[in-house]
Amino acid sequence: MSDRPVVTRIAPSPTGMMHIGTARTALFNWLYARHTGGKFLLRIEDTDRERSTAEAVQVIFDGMAWLGLDADAEPVFQAQRADRHVAAAQAMLERGAAYRDYMTPDELAHERELARAEGRVIRSPWRDRGPGNYDETQPYVVRLKSPLEGVTVIDDQVKGEVTFHNKDLDDLILLRSDGTPTYNLAVVVDDHEMGVTHVIRGDDHLANAARQTLIYQALGWDVPVWAHLPLIYGPDGTKLSKRHGAQAVSEFDDMGYLPEAMRNYLAKLGWGHGDDEIFGDAQAIDWFDIRDVVAAPSRLDWDKLNHLNNHYIRQADPERLTDLVMKVHASRDWPLHDGDRARLARTIPLVRDGAKTTLELADMTVFVLKRRPLALPDKAKGLLTDETRARLSRLRDQLTASANWDVTSLEALIRGFAEAEGVGIGKFGPALRACLSGGSPAPDLASALVATGRDESLGRIDDALSHAA
Ligand code: GLU
Repeated sequence: MSDRPVVTRIAPSPTGMMHIGTARTALFNWLYARHTGGKFLLRIEDTDRERSTAEAVQVIFDGMAWLGLDADAEPVFQAQRADRHVAAAQAMLERGAAYRDYMTPDELAHERELARAEGRVIRSPWRDRGPGNYDETQPYVVRLKSPLEGVTVIDDQVKGEVTFHNKDLDDLILLRSDGTPTYNLAVVVDDHEMGVTHVIRGDDHLANAARQTLIYQALGWDVPVWAHLPLIYGPDGTKLSKRHGAQAVSEFDDMGYLPEAMRNYLAKLGWGHGDDEIFGDAQAIDWFDIRDVVAAPSRLDWDKLNHLNNHYIRQADPERLTDLVMKVHASRDWPLHDGDRARLARTIPLVRDGAKTTLELADMTVFVLKRRPLALPDKAKGLLTDETRARLSRLRDQLTASANWDVTSLEALIRGFAEAEGVGIGKFGPALRACLSGGSPAPDLASALVATGRDESLGRIDDALSHAA
């Protein structure tokens, strides 16, 4: 098996949201496929026809696209493959590895009671009756003829060896009485026919690995390499849920996280490369090995995620950030005007160092989008004493005369002005900032002036100064 090219897959069920745990599983499958030069596939497990709406499937496509996890083939839809699943069950019947179970509901209930009393799993008498006794007119289910003795060992890349006693595994149903395939059968047939060599998934499927191993063996197929990932918990160590702030991929997008920050962050949830905190895809692909995933559950850590997101915001192409921030303002129904995009593009590089999310970045850029005359907060009105007004008016004249309008020149101008006036910048800075921002968050004075632009800055100062004292 080891000399076959690696094929991994993510096999989400469309539930209407893409859980962050699914995103991490997808990332690990993608990284492992890229690391080994193999293939990464996507299968939509859409056999629950009620939940698997087109919208729910689209949520998965959108989540994968946003995360930048590209599959190497068109997605496979499990529900379309029912005939393949049934054919596999037939093959097992023919090999004597499965049997028809004609137990009636009453007989099954009785057997279940007996089994419970005797502390064993249920066994159907049809297991040993043989095809000669089958009655075509009666309903039946098809069950796997599981071994009664011995053990099934899952040699898991993350968990190590996990042993299941076969006597504890019942003869699982492969086809229901209506002829539809069951989940474990579908997964095995799909993984085999998709050529999947490594099944990397959440450890809530560990027990299924034992059952699926028995199906592989019954079909005479190679068993894939297993790797079961521990769950992601909330910061408080309990199962990740709504009250931890977010659990769906789309929520992280809505909260202003960048996909590359999410990839870096998720890669570090359960895996890592020494003490390296910040690494891009190329490094992660180079370093990633499924055997290095740790077995202990990991906890979502907002501080770490914010730290990474800030790093990637500082690195990001300003044009791209501008698009993202435009979207945030639009989603908040901020009335956007012609020229606002250019204003944002000018402002973002000046303020982004302090932003943990693109939502914060949007907050930090509101001041440039405001329209004259800006409403001044009460606090700002208090700052505009007669003395300060006179000083701002003198500063205004110097700003008007300034040949240059860049951060370095304006910093020097403001410093020189304070010196010439014989006061600290604290004597007029807060008032100037209020004139420029109308009380919204704004960066240092020189950056705020550059972001606002010369004419607009001078206009805003004039507006404030002409405001009745
Ligand atoms: N459809 C399963 C889930 O969403 C995954 C099954 C698998 O990876 O084998 O949990």
